[in-house]
Amino acid sequence: MTLVRRLSAVAILVGCLLAFEIVAAFFSHSVALLSDVAHVGTDFLSALLTLVAERIARRPSTQSMSYGFARGTVVAAFVNGFSLILLSVIILGQTILRFFYPEPVQPVWMISAALVALVVDGIIVWMLMKGEQNLNIKSSFIHFLGDALVSFGVILAAVLVTVTHKPWFDPAITFVLVSVMIYTSWKIVRQSLLILMEGTPNTINLEILYDAISRLPGILAVHDIHVWAVSDRDYAASLHVVIGPKVVISETDRLLKEIEGILKERFRIVHSAIQLESHVDPEHHGFPHLKDREAFEEPSEHKDASTAYHTFFV
Ligand SMILES: [Zn+2]
Ligand SMILES: [Zn+2]
Ligand SMILES: [Zn+2]
Repeated sequence: MTLVRRLSAVAILVGCLLAFEIVAAFFSHSVALLSDVAHVGTDFLSALLTLVAERIARRPSTQSMSYGFARGTVVAAFVNGFSLILLSVIILGQTILRFFYPEPVQPVWMISAALVALVVDGIIVWMLMKGEQNLNIKSSFIHFLGDALVSFGVILAAVLVTVTHKPWFDPAITFVLVSVMIYTSWKIVRQSLLILMEGTPNTINLEILYDAISRLPGILAVHDIHVWAVSDRDYAASLHVVIGPKVVISETDRLLKEIEGILKERFRIVHSAIQLESHVDPEHHGFPHLKDREAFEEPSEHKDASTAYHTFFV
């Protein structure tokens, strides 16, 4: 099954669960179930968001969107992760209250509803686990896994409270599960924010990249290095490379190929913009920061890059 089809099936399943809970809430007149309807309603919206983002991501790039639409999936992951944190904090607040004002054991139909939700969320988790993965899918996966665990917690708490007559089991289980949910969604939010803020991807160390390129023969200096992620696995880089005075124009093609090769093979960077310069303009910014660097001097014919720049890193 393709990713878009799997996500469509997930949205349909959540839609069915929502319909079921609306009917159950209508017949049981339960406030608790009604608040769960609100939750499953946001689940439905979040499943739709994941699906729409993934469909749009497949569109080809256009003149106004030259990178294409893949980053939409990162925006979706951010929105999903952030809303999950908000939701979890609300649940956590209610849970803490229940330590002080314990509620009676959930009625049978409430536990049945949790059982239905557990089955549906379990199927969704299983569907999201297989095949293609990215941050967007991961955010959805974590949400439904958390939901399945919370439903499981409702059932487990009902059994434990009935057997032991200790009402604090109920909020204690929810407290643990929701805390785990906040932690995992925070990781998704952080990862998507890093991409949205044009941060250097975690897998790339700019100092290692700097070393790898500045060591190539014919290169005097490298500066104004930027590496960012277009989507969660598509990396791009821009850098300025100062070439020695003895490098002739016809050799620069070979040099560019070599740099591109290093970026692609060692750092998985597919888009690169490399600017060749014959001298360093101190106004240029980026990594390494020229203005912070005492060792920096106008590179001369006799000075090779590794000694001129070495002092910066020690
Ligand atoms: Zn949910
Ligand atoms: Zn420059
Ligand atoms: Zn720059």
